[in-house]
Amino acid sequence: MAITDLDDGGLSALVSELGGKPFQARQLSHWIYRHGAADWDECRNLPAALRRSLAERGPPLGSEVRETVQSCDGTEKLLIELRDGETVESVVIPDGDRTTLCISTQVGCPVGCVFCASGLDGVRRNLDAGEIVEQVLHARRRTAGGAALTHLVVMGIGEPLLNLDALLQALARIRDQEGIALGARRITVSTSGYPDRIDRFADAATGVNLAVSLHAADDQLRRRLVPTARATVAEIVAAAQRYFTASGRQVTFEVVLLAGVNDRPRDAAALIGAVRRMPCTVNLLPWNPVERIPDLRRPPPFRVQKFAEALRAGGLNVTVRKQRGADRSAACGQLRIQAALGRESPDVQAEKAEPPGLGSE
Ligand code: SF4
Repeated sequence: MAITDLDDGGLSALVSELGGKPFQARQLSHWIYRHGAADWDECRNLPAALRRSLAERGPPLGSEVRETVQSCDGTEKLLIELRDGETVESVVIPDGDRTTLCISTQVGCPVGCVFCASGLDGVRRNLDAGEIVEQVLHARRRTAGGAALTHLVVMGIGEPLLNLDALLQALARIRDQEGIALGARRITVSTSGYPDRIDRFADAATGVNLAVSLHAADDQLRRRLVPTARATVAEIVAAAQRYFTASGRQVTFEVVLLAGVNDRPRDAAALIGAVRRMPCTVNLLPWNPVERIPDLRRPPPFRVQKFAEALRAGGLNVTVRKQRGADRSAACGQLRIQAALGRESPDVQAEKAEPPGLGSE
């Protein structure tokens, strides 16, 4: 078990087992979560004997960054290799005075949304709490010296609420004021809509924001887009409403827009009818093309605009996601798939093929 999988009680037990003093568990925790130590030698106020014993168990972090791909807009994708050789992706997204990190919670995804690279091969396993937290630690080391991470979105590979226990343990670590100290209001967890899990998440009272991926308000169309969905749109929206009532946090409904599939006037009308009774925001995400999904298309900007205007005319708050990392395998899960296939991303290939100075910018 990695050190980052241990809660405070587990850390205390480990330090005492290795002959350390009780207060040294807190020091150890500070070194990992506050200072981001990647080597026990960095933990200068721990006795040498304790550092040696810890080193015999392994390094502070169980995962490592295997590949990074940077986009011309500053977005950086990290391919992270886990203890057992599996990989997940995290994405660092700078935007003005905000730097947002998007993290994964599963290796692959069981939900199988038809437009998503991450669900193409199903799920291999859940991430441990430590593997979720370590994505934040890796990203923080990469941004050290630059802008600090200001926001976290749990929207990467996997369905977070199907790995709820590990997610809750990880969120406690990430929010811990003596550690990473990222406030609940700066964290958003995104789900593809499991009403019973949304209720359990509300009961945990984390205070974080909830985003619900709706994609369509018509049940038949939604089941085509999210084939594993069991709950109806009405049940999902009711659970989102309960989350709002319990947490006071306004829910965001997300819609990945696909040309000719869910971007029609009747799709906008159905969406207005489904969510207008609760305070919420609808976030439109024009689809990022995926090489292995050739049948879908991204809607042109004017169509996205028209859809957004129709929703606004129906009284909804609407945001449209800016495309980020468009030149660098932008869709979630693509980097991992390319690594699994033993191929470099097309972007890396292009970098190698082109002489310096003739890049895509
Ligand atoms: S969009 Fe999210 S929930 Fe759907 S398959 Fe991809 S990772 Fe899973």
